Amino acid sequence: MQSEHERRAYLRAMGIDVWVPRDQVDDEPAPVETETQAGPGEMGWDALRAAVAACERCTLHESRTQTVFGVGNPDADWMIIGEAPGAEEDRRGEPFVGRAGKLLDEMLLAVGQGRNSVFIANILKCRPPNNRDPSQDEAAACRPYLERQIALVQPGIILAVGRVAAQQLLQTDAPVGRLRGKVHQLGATPLVVTYHPAYLLRSPSQKRKSWHDLCMAASIMAGGTA
Ligand code: URA
Repeated sequence: MQSEHERRAYLRAMGIDVWVPRDQVDDEPAPVETETQAGPGEMGWDALRAAVAACERCTLHESRTQTVFGVGNPDADWMIIGEAPGAEEDRRGEPFVGRAGKLLDEMLLAVGQGRNSVFIANILKCRPPNNRDPSQDEAAACRPYLERQIALVQPGIILAVGRVAAQQLLQTDAPVGRLRGKVHQLGATPLVVTYHPAYLLRSPSQKRKSWHDLCMAASIMAGGTA
C-alpha cells in the first residue's frame, strides 16, 4: 500500500504539480530528488522508484503496461537478478510472478530464502515486446537503475539467473554453462550464475546443477569459499 508521502513523491517525479491543503503543508516532506536533480547513482529508494516509474530512456516505455521495479527486502543478503519482465510481470508490476517465478520461489525456499527475504530485480524494468531479448541499448539505458539498486541493497551475494542476466552483469558473451559453477565478482560482491527457471521448466534434468549453484551461493553467505 502506497503512503501519501510516496504518492506525492511519484507525482512530483512525473512532473505533476501536487497541491497540498494549507493545513497539511507542515507535514509535507522535503521533495525527493528526481533524476533531473541527481542521477540514479545518488538516489534513495523513493526517488529511484519514482524515476523508474517515469522512465523514458528507451522505447520500451511505449509498449509497457507499467515498469517492474523489483521486490523484496531492501536490506537483503541475497539479490536475485533476472532478465526482464514477461507478460504476467508487466501486468502485475512484480518480477517473477509467472510459472518461472513459482519455480524460482521454490528454489530459493530450498536454501532457506523466502521471496520477502531476498531482493529480486531484472536487467530491464520494462517488458520487451514478444519477450524478445533485451537489446544492448535497452540494457545500457536501464543499467544505472540496477546499479543503484545493488548499491542500496548491498547484498552479500548476487544470483544471476539465466544467460541474459549473467552476460549483461559480467559483460561477457560466454554461455551460462561456462559461467555457472564458479564464483564471479561484481565489484566487491560475489556473484553466482545459474540457469533461468524458465529454462529449468523446459529442461528439468538441469535442476540438479542449479541446486549446486544455489548451495554454492548459500555457502558463500555462510562464510565459506564455495
Ligand atoms: N523472467 C525474468 O527474467 N524476469 C522476470 O521478472 C520474469 C521472468
